[in-house]
Amino acid sequence: MFEMVIGLETHVELSTKTKIFCSCTTQFGGEPNTHCCPICTGQPGTLPVLNKKAVEYAITAGLALGCRINRHSVMARKHYVYPDLSKAYQISQYELPLCEGGKVTLSNGREIRITRIHIEEDAGKLVHQGNMALIDYNRGGVPLIEIVTEPDFRSAEEATEYLEKLQTILRAVKVSDCRMQEGSMRCDVNLSVRRKGETAFGIRSEVKNLNSFTSVAQAIGYEFERHVDILQAGGTVEQETRHFNAEDGTTTSLRDKENADDYRYFPDPDIIEILVPEEVLHRLEAELPELPDAKFDRYVKELGIPEDDAKMLTKYRPVSEYFERASEGVTQPKTVASFIITQMFAQIQTEAEREHWNPDTTAEQLRELVRLLESGKISRNVAKRVFTSMLETGKGAHDFLSEDDLAGFDPSQLTSLCQKAIDENPKTVSDYKNGKEKAIKALVGAVMRATKGRADALAAEAELKRLIDQ
Ligand SMILES: [Zn+2]
Repeated sequence: MFEMVIGLETHVELSTKTKIFCSCTTQFGGEPNTHCCPICTGQPGTLPVLNKKAVEYAITAGLALGCRINRHSVMARKHYVYPDLSKAYQISQYELPLCEGGKVTLSNGREIRITRIHIEEDAGKLVHQGNMALIDYNRGGVPLIEIVTEPDFRSAEEATEYLEKLQTILRAVKVSDCRMQEGSMRCDVNLSVRRKGETAFGIRSEVKNLNSFTSVAQAIGYEFERHVDILQAGGTVEQETRHFNAEDGTTTSLRDKENADDYRYFPDPDIIEILVPEEVLHRLEAELPELPDAKFDRYVKELGIPEDDAKMLTKYRPVSEYFERASEGVTQPKTVASFIITQMFAQIQTEAEREHWNPDTTAEQLRELVRLLESGKISRNVAKRVFTSMLETGKGAHDFLSEDDLAGFDPSQLTSLCQKAIDENPKTVSDYKNGKEKAIKALVGAVMRATKGRADALAAEAELKRLIDQ
């Protein structure tokens, strides 16, 4: 039996307003080659100046991932020839990266160790048209961090869960929007295969530039089978860089894998060393918000929110902010959570919409509704109905509450109302008695109509059953 051994390198664009070495905008899109200047297109004689904000964002990312921040680090030139980078070297970090160590804990309890995080510039983008290749340098010089893990993953599921967590954490600390479809988060997979029980690593291949969780999972699945086939046939896997074909989920060889030697790294003489003052480090530590894992634990343990709900609330930063605002002064925050998860998530379904959580119904309006419910002024059924109308219109609860709704429901009337429903529907009652379990729902419906939805449906069902079974 074989097992896969995977390490990931993830490139994440930092959300600074300007590029890493010049003042060009980092905005996504734009007409080709309109967001660039002599510095970010690498013209001879220009001098790059490091963007302080990019360094601070990278430090924040490192702190959020539990890394040690090196107070002294150095930018280095990484040489390669390709048209996406006109100066024939990328300014990156090599021997002395900004952050080292760190980890991400997966839901199965396994810890993925982070080797290092370094900062570098993004390259331009090649656009292929027919037999022409065009180059757009708008993305060139956008600040990136590269997050490198140890070969700690043993399945595609672990790899994608890690990437999702990385996305949630980096969004929570607001250093990147991590949009894979726009290329602001991209991933390289290093995979090797060995027989279970072996400790030495096999020869690895690297699949470059994966831009969705699905591609990552497919590339891992394809490479694992390819390696296993080679090994079972008695062959040797070649160390190489491969390209992923999204159309059919396969990979093809790009080139022999470069080794670090091939890049001829050396410290960039144009950029001074990065020295992180202690007070800057302390300030960035102090500014760190509550991280998603800690938030999840607090929601589950202190607020009594079910784990699945807590997971959804903490996955999207704007949703957890909304939830916390709506919960202020509320006795049972889990009631607020349940409204968000059951009714709002049904309306706001796509990942993109949840990332930009901006419903017409404000957190204050939801809070008001939950308070009406908690004070006993309205029933849960009324609250649900009213919330549906609130979500449709963006109006507050009082616009949908009649005097009847606010009159509440006197539970002492429940028995007589249930008896009335039984008397008026003899056919339904006999259906239920003959084993048609669902018939009871029709009777509950009758009670709910009679009380305009103010009775508690569960209590009504129990009372109906008690009366019929008597
Ligand atoms: Zn520029």
